[in-house]
Amino acid sequence: MSNADSLLVYTHPDCLDHAFAGHPERPERLTAVIDRLNESGIMDEVTLVEASEASGDDLSSVHDPDLIEILRVNERTDAIVRIDQDTYLSPGSNRAARLACGASTEGIRAILRGEAQRVFCAVRPPGHHAEINTAMGFCLFNTIAVAGAVALATPGIDRIAILDFDVHQGNGTVDIFKDDERVLVVSSFQEDFYPMRYMDYHNPHVVPCPLAANTGSRDFRRAVEASWLPAIPRHNPDLILVSAGFDGHAQDPLGGLSLSTDDYRWITALIAGLADEHCEGRLLSTLEGGYDLASLADSVEMHVSELLK
Ligand SMILES: [Zn+2]
Repeated sequence: MSNADSLLVYTHPDCLDHAFAGHPERPERLTAVIDRLNESGIMDEVTLVEASEASGDDLSSVHDPDLIEILRVNERTDAIVRIDQDTYLSPGSNRAARLACGASTEGIRAILRGEAQRVFCAVRPPGHHAEINTAMGFCLFNTIAVAGAVALATPGIDRIAILDFDVHQGNGTVDIFKDDERVLVVSSFQEDFYPMRYMDYHNPHVVPCPLAANTGSRDFRRAVEASWLPAIPRHNPDLILVSAGFDGHAQDPLGGLSLSTDDYRWITALIAGLADEHCEGRLLSTLEGGYDLASLADSVEMHVSELLK
């Protein structure tokens, strides 16, 4: 990393206020991540930034105004509101989701102002299942897609790539950008698994990499190299955005892959190399899944350590 060589880490304590007892997507996930970044000394090497809420204009650049309004009016101060079987609103959920998107949009703007090359957003709830008009799969707003839309509204940013290595297919990101040739969406995910939407969908700028259950390190790395490496130079993006989900780890209670902590070091190094080669190093990553606290903390430590190199 050259000038503006600090890694920016965006977060906000109010991202902990989206909470429903017993749900796997719980505040302790983010606490585990922040604690590990502090205990490892990594936090001393980054520039920590407190996120602000994303504006309605930024959210509506990818989401239907009805979804934005549904989340706002259903945010009760005294009760949990169910969106679907595994997605809910608690007091503080709408603010947490807006802060997550504010982290990614502010991070993108900092990169585009030349204040940083790399950004990590330590936020929740995750975002990549949220479609244009639907919150689902623990996700309320699509954090990475909102950031992508902000980038594309900036002069000089003509093409972006979104890379998603969460164990679940990023159906929301595909839904939002499937008709936008400026956006390459490449992903790796467990086949025949949640969300069962857009699982087989592909076109020249949507490149899925399905993985069989129990896929381990060697086959994961081979599959990603075969799928991603030809697609990214072909698209020649100006910026790389990452949906960083760590629920493909062998220890994860929800995912069914057998990835190791070192696989997250490997894929982060691969992505950083692609950003250096094609995008002048410009890379923004945001936290998606990862539900085993110990392996999540280990994997995020690996991820952020690589981003710091
Ligand atoms: Zn996931």
